[in-house]
Amino acid sequence: MLSYQHAYHAGNLADVHKHALLCAALDYLTRKDKPLSFIETHAGRGLYALDAAEARKTGEAALGIARMRGRLPPDHPYARVLSGIERDFGPTAYPGSPLIAARMLRPGDRLHVAELHPAEHAALCETLAPYHVVPRREDGFAMALSVCPPTPRRGLLLVDPSYEVKADYAAIPRFLATVARCWNVGVLILWYPLLTSDLHAPMLEALTAQFPEALRHEVRFPPVRPGHGMTGSGLFVVNPPFGLADTLRLLDDLFATLRGG
Ligand code: SAM
Repeated sequence: MLSYQHAYHAGNLADVHKHALLCAALDYLTRKDKPLSFIETHAGRGLYALDAAEARKTGEAALGIARMRGRLPPDHPYARVLSGIERDFGPTAYPGSPLIAARMLRPGDRLHVAELHPAEHAALCETLAPYHVVPRREDGFAMALSVCPPTPRRGLLLVDPSYEVKADYAAIPRFLATVARCWNVGVLILWYPLLTSDLHAPMLEALTAQFPEALRHEVRFPPVRPGHGMTGSGLFVVNPPFGLADTLRLLDDLFATLRGG
């Protein structure tokens, strides 16, 4: 039984890292007048309320997007998505990755998203209904393999597991190798936590050996609670779109400001 719920963590510093890079990548891909596919294995509910009991309980959004929002350049694709969400849903609304993608994609682009948790899946169906996207309630790894290579062939796969299932660390390099074999032009983005236990380290070693040209970007931040094992956020990008360099610099600068308080 899945117990992880992203509502406790939405808008935290890992989300800021992941969503800023996702927006920059989608912004780049949507500049070309050619359709694309967006595939997401672990979608979540798509729309969160930062004043909900779950968010207030952990305080992660208060330490995350609430601190970073004013530091984002207004013309960054992530800031533009956030402004649109605030305008349409109110100042405490925060978009998850499938809603970010749905809002950035164009008619003719395709979205394939999976979410296994029944309540999260039901909420996601509601969130994405206006965009005519029907999320699948099934294992996201299996869903992605069933649609790869996608049509249209240009596109991006986001893999953002909660790592609640520890076997994911060993399974992910094999999964991404299979995807890359059948979809060699896809932009593949994997999020991973930086853990004091180093549980993520063997996965990264395997990924780096498999994809020596991939981009790896990590940011460090103080743990949300004393003794909490996550001290940073990582993104591993196979076939990174040209032009992510500015966003990486922005992220390095943004997260460096945390060290100043
Ligand atoms: N990507 C989302 C975002 O950035 O807004 C957050 C996703 S959250 C970290 C991970 C989600 O994966 C949870 O909602 C969980 O219920 C779901 N999940 C867990 N195992 C899954 C599986 N095997 N297939 C699909 N979804 C799964």
